Amino acid sequence: MLPYGRQDIRTEDIDAVVAVLQSDFLTQGPVVPAFEGAVAKKVGAQHGVATNSATSALHVACLALGLGPGDSLWTTPNTFVASANCAIYCGAKVDFVDIDPYTYNMSVVALEQKLRSAAACGDLPRILVLVHFAGEPCDLEAIASLATQYGVRIIEDASHAVGGKYRDHYIGSGRYSDITIFSFHPVKIITTAEGGLALTGDAGLADRMRLYRSHGVTRDPGLMESESAGAWYYEQVALGFNYRMTELQAALGLAQLDRLDDYVARRHALADRYDELLSSVPVVTPTRGHDRYSALHLYPVCLKSPDVRETVFNGLRSRGVGVNVHYIPVHTQPFYQARGFQWGDFPAAESYYRRTISLPLFPAMTDDDLATVVGALEETLESV
Ligand SMILES: *Cc1c(COP(=O)(O)O)cnc(C)c1O
Repeated sequence: MLPYGRQDIRTEDIDAVVAVLQSDFLTQGPVVPAFEGAVAKKVGAQHGVATNSATSALHVACLALGLGPGDSLWTTPNTFVASANCAIYCGAKVDFVDIDPYTYNMSVVALEQKLRSAAACGDLPRILVLVHFAGEPCDLEAIASLATQYGVRIIEDASHAVGGKYRDHYIGSGRYSDITIFSFHPVKIITTAEGGLALTGDAGLADRMRLYRSHGVTRDPGLMESESAGAWYYEQVALGFNYRMTELQAALGLAQLDRLDDYVARRHALADRYDELLSSVPVVTPTRGHDRYSALHLYPVCLKSPDVRETVFNGLRSRGVGVNVHYIPVHTQPFYQARGFQWGDFPAAESYYRRTISLPLFPAMTDDDLATVVGALEETLESV
């Protein structure tokens, strides 16, 4: 089965991981800080905080921004559940803003309306989690200006958008948000097996995220409440977690980071070819904005009717094409239905979900693989 996404591991990756295995530190050594610095430098951010997943990075980001009981966080329904769950971890509430039917990202119009009515009843969220769906950056400038107007903080969940750009600046540069989160899960743009990273331009936020990443324990006198009792001394000043990345993961990430631009360029070449081959096929291909550069984590196509989705999906799988669906709207999950949401709440995300199928897209895919996918899609469409 041709998968919808797959990591690319080379000899230099393996050598880098083996070198760490033969070194003094498997965790809490020099490679994690080197990786944090390298990612921050690459995207033009001040501080990087590596974690054992994007999910834990989202959690520490919310804690650092002070999210707690009585607060709320808004995100898009067209995302993986982790973008919303981070609020629940903090005892806060979640709400959603419907998507734009053309970009599948959070709709600026829907956001503006929702902020206006929330402001009128004193119910504004503390945090907005943006998701650059499929790697296509959101309307960052418009959303950041609304966030400033209403005093809302922004986390970019850029799990799909590592290596993407908005107006010539890498996603993660922090020009339009407080914190940006990357995921390095193997299906994403570059991998550390499991792993994530939070980027910020604010040294205080970076300190707090580091604290929550590591038990709430600090050896930094500047963060302690009492005078140091000696060189052995540390203090627990908050309730944190063990969300650390290992040295092995960071070594793999550093080796992969060297190839980031090549990976995204290859994804663009493949997507251009898909666009071309699908121009005569009755599906809607993803839009790419002229002022931004998608990282193209996914290549979702939209069918003309929801009635044929299951047949097309099964037809592709039976022909060895490992398609997937991104995403079942988060608010329709049983966990969120138990918190008051229901089908019908966010119709644009639901309508998109019923018609979408993500075609395979990963750098090691060949032009022949791609032709096979398109051929199989044409065949299944003719059969419905
Ligand atoms: C993959 C993903 C996550 C979670 O990433 P992990 O590193 O697996 O924790 C969060 N948000 C989005 C949008 C994702 O695609």
